[in-house]
Amino acid sequence: MRYHDITKDDMRNGDGLRVVLWVAGCEHCCRDCHNPITWDPEGGLLFDEDAKKEIFAQLDQKYIAGLTFSGGDPLHPANRPAVRALAREVKERYPDKTVWLYTGALWEDIWQFPVMRYVDVCVDGEFEAQTKDVKLLWKGSKNQRVIDVPATLRKKRPEEPVLYCGDYAVDFDEGPTDVGRAACEG
Ligand code: SF4
Repeated sequence: MRYHDITKDDMRNGDGLRVVLWVAGCEHCCRDCHNPITWDPEGGLLFDEDAKKEIFAQLDQKYIAGLTFSGGDPLHPANRPAVRALAREVKERYPDKTVWLYTGALWEDIWQFPVMRYVDVCVDGEFEAQTKDVKLLWKGSKNQRVIDVPATLRKKRPEEPVLYCGDYAVDFDEGPTDVGRAACEG
């Protein structure tokens, strides 16, 4: 697997302060993609032991809520084995921290992927420029879904996603993190 960046103290890609791994490789080619430089699976840097240590050093910090996989697409065929292995290792080493995963694929096509055993929240679907709204919670366009993966996988019909939260925070001006939880629980 290759990657472009590891960002720290990120508040925009999941609950709490997070470390985010931006992987290389995406076949979705969404119009107005925010990150087309990540489409090439041969781009960026090799994800090696040093990169993994950089992520674990962040997860060692109490205030870091977890790891988010973004890109690019973590479920691009070139990334799946390494993403699965890293998600599994994170869950084993840091059982109290959460794993979020952004993908351009649809939940109906990926819910059976083994990596989902180690994912708490999956944001699915391609970015649709025509339904873009900067106030959406944890996603870029209205068609995307923020999915509670463990709750969905416990259902009789796991191909039907259980949403982790609604489209918008109750009061976006207060910031998405805490109010996002309130919106989900309300
Ligand atoms: S899935 Fe994400 S990274 Fe891939 S083209 Fe669409 S917006 Fe860009």
